[in-house]
Amino acid sequence: MKRKILRNFIYVIVMAVTVSTVLLIWLSYGMFKNRVIDDLRMYARVISACIQQSGMEPIMDALDDDVRVTLVNADGTVAFDSVADEQTMENHAERPEIANALAQGEGSDVRDSHTLRTSTFYYALRVSDDVVLRLSREASSIWALYLQAAPMVLGLLALLIGLCVAMANTLIVHLLEPIEQMTSHLDDLSGVTRYPEMEPFMDMIKTQHEEILRSANMRVEFTANVSHELKTPLTSISGYAELIESGMAQGEQAKTFAGEIHKSANRLLTLINDIIRLSQMDAPMPDMVFEPVDLAQIAASTLDQLKLSAQNLGISLQLDARYALVSADRRMMEELLYNLCDNAIRYNVRGGRVRMEVHPVRDRVIVRVQDTGIGISKENQAHVFERFYRVDKSRSKATGGTGLGLAIVKHIAVKHNAKISLQSELGTGTTIEVTFDRLVRG
Ligand code: ADP
Repeated sequence: MKRKILRNFIYVIVMAVTVSTVLLIWLSYGMFKNRVIDDLRMYARVISACIQQSGMEPIMDALDDDVRVTLVNADGTVAFDSVADEQTMENHAERPEIANALAQGEGSDVRDSHTLRTSTFYYALRVSDDVVLRLSREASSIWALYLQAAPMVLGLLALLIGLCVAMANTLIVHLLEPIEQMTSHLDDLSGVTRYPEMEPFMDMIKTQHEEILRSANMRVEFTANVSHELKTPLTSISGYAELIESGMAQGEQAKTFAGEIHKSANRLLTLINDIIRLSQMDAPMPDMVFEPVDLAQIAASTLDQLKLSAQNLGISLQLDARYALVSADRRMMEELLYNLCDNAIRYNVRGGRVRMEVHPVRDRVIVRVQDTGIGISKENQAHVFERFYRVDKSRSKATGGTGLGLAIVKHIAVKHNAKISLQSELGTGTTIEVTFDRLVRG
């Protein structure tokens, strides 16, 4: 990571310095070129005026050494040159500055020398119909300027790269500091250095860490609860069996004890079934088959199953359900409705009512189980979905409860992305609502 950041920094700096140097030299060279040509133009005008008044000779003395003067005839032959022998000079008609001067009155050009170290600047002015005056001057070429700038550019680059390494180092240390601190202080993040971009990540890690701890605690607690719950029926089975075995209970009494053993064994089975269901649902990949399920039909068959036990307790059942499809695991839906309805009957009063509703409402399906039973106090409402939580332990046990029914309901709801809400008043009754996403067949 550190290397990568550093490499990117260096790329950017090398690019920025190179591009700006090239641009700067190119721009200033353009300005420099214009200046030289402007100077030559001014010179040419003065010289042309002088030549017309007093001839060539007096001017030659006044000229700068580095300015070369050439007079070219309209046919391109050289009539005069201040440096070379005009006889040996080739025809100049093709030179761009001469051609332009002949055609338009003036012309200029810049030509690089063979070595590229210098450039020659030319300016030509037509002084009469058949004579062109040309001035030229040598100066450093743009390449020479680049070469001159090279040591400075390299020095600057070295300096900036050094600065980059230092900056990248501080930056990385600063960036990684919270992560390093977090790995050693997961339990308490209050002392960890923070910066805004880091907050969401730290919050996520913190929540996950807390969740892991919570679920570890829950597991320990659950194991303790399970052992405790299993112990009671097993103790009673063992006790009654011992009495029968020793011959202390005989005849009718032995029969009653066998009945008690039977009851405890059944209780064990229910408990173990519920525990198995919960641990199946806890698995990372629970064995679920999603299919279109009509909750109205499941509601009807659930009430049918519970008809007898309701009758025995003198409780009337009502159903108000409309065809409502959800995408769900059928068996889990049966369990969910069964557990809710079973509770509504078991925690009811003689002559009470249980009403089950299934309503498709826009893109939702609402399942409502309402009873006129004993109700749940505000303090207990927050806990009834916890494993093994029972408001009235003896009533729960007496009616075959395990304290796991609502925990299973909650689990199923979560797995189906459904929301549960509970409303209850002591002595009046309880309403539990589960809201599913409706399945609309396209
Ligand atoms: P249980 O097997 O004991 O019924 P549940 O998980 O189904 O366990 O419910 C937890 C507790 O919530 C019950 O013991 C009971 O005290 C309370 N409870 C659940 N449903 C109702 C209801 N409809 N009316 C009153 N109390 C209820």
